[in-house]
Amino acid sequence: MRAEIIATGTELLTGGSADTNSVFLSEELMLLGLETAFKTVVGDDEKDMEEALKRAMARVDAVIITGGLGPTEDDITRKVVAKITKKRLVLSEEALAAIRARLAGRGKDVLAANDRQALIPAGTRLLPNPAGIAPGFYIDEGGPFVAVLPGVPLEMRAMYSESLKPALDQRFGGKSFIRRRVLRTCGISESAVNQSIQDILRRSEPKVGLSVKETGVDVRIIARASSGEQAQALVDRTESAIREKLGDAVYGVDGVELEEVVGALLKQRRLKIAVAESCTAGLIGARITNIAGSSEYFERGAVVYSNLAKTEMLGVPAELIERLGAVSSEAAAAMAQGIKQAARTDLGLSVTGIAGPSGGTDKKPVGLVYTALTTPQGTTTAEYRLLGSREQIRMRASQMALDMVRRYLIG
Ligand code: ATP
Repeated sequence: MRAEIIATGTELLTGGSADTNSVFLSEELMLLGLETAFKTVVGDDEKDMEEALKRAMARVDAVIITGGLGPTEDDITRKVVAKITKKRLVLSEEALAAIRARLAGRGKDVLAANDRQALIPAGTRLLPNPAGIAPGFYIDEGGPFVAVLPGVPLEMRAMYSESLKPALDQRFGGKSFIRRRVLRTCGISESAVNQSIQDILRRSEPKVGLSVKETGVDVRIIARASSGEQAQALVDRTESAIREKLGDAVYGVDGVELEEVVGALLKQRRLKIAVAESCTAGLIGARITNIAGSSEYFERGAVVYSNLAKTEMLGVPAELIERLGAVSSEAAAAMAQGIKQAARTDLGLSVTGIAGPSGGTDKKPVGLVYTALTTPQGTTTAEYRLLGSREQIRMRASQMALDMVRRYLIG
């Protein structure tokens, strides 16, 4: 079964807001076995909305519309749905009572415009609004299922979870089951991932795809089957096959972040870390300490932006910086050793590089980053040529540094 999500609102087309509702809805629909085949964003224009709804009803089994349920002139979703589904707009006493009770509960007057929110296409089922004023509604009469939810994300989610989800489940649930998993990788390029798992990527079931993020390459597995167990088994088998090919490059699954993985490993091994950051200027420390309980393994972080700071705070020899530069493998190593010694930790991690957009030279271009990790066994360094904006280079550098720690801890 296939669905289309129509997000309405001119502000979604003019850069004012991003359509996050459809991200939530497509995840939820997938859990019910409904595949989101199309997402449409349309402005507050009657003709355009009519066309979008007509097209959606002709090509999918379920259409979910968000937005345009408010009391203002540009809130035209009800009118459009009534026209395309050939229903009259009628004043729903049930909706009116609900709206009035809501407004009274908030100590607000009922305005004529609010009454307009009770105009609903005749014969449709109301969806109560647990988080706002206007109710939503749905039409389920044998043809395509059409539902209308509010645009405000909080209201949309509450209404979906409490009222629309059970209705969709009754109509579409239990027929096909979709299970999903994302394998998160780091330190391996998109083309290298592609080459390693190309046989798996070519299969039509389960669907496997790649997305490149600042954190690395994510590998998505989506399996569909006639039972949840079968779909899960397909995901599990595919995950094992991919892990076999990608090995240590996989650091976690689904929403897990690298700092969580590194934190858990440090905790397990009872090791403490300190970091010295130049081009990332505190980003690594911030990421590590984003995790609750990180005080168990994070001792301190130093932002050593200038050459003087590197020398004064970490004892990096001024002569070394003079001779080889602050962006060098030797400076990174001295920074990692310096912070480990100053903090008396098991591990010292450092990053130095050129985040750009200016400051690069032929020999040391923007994106050149060195990381170093000092452990009781010694110091290792790595060199990277990272691409992207200043922000992306800083994020990628922090990711490579954290990954260096992870690989040491699992190695
Ligand atoms: P209202 O009663 O506030 O008019 P509504 O149901 O008519 O609610 P809209 O007016 O379309 O909803 O949108 C209200 C606000 O909700 C928008 O300004 C926008 O910030 C947010 N919003 C709308 N659609 C989306 C969407 N698809 N994704 C994320 N946010 C959205």
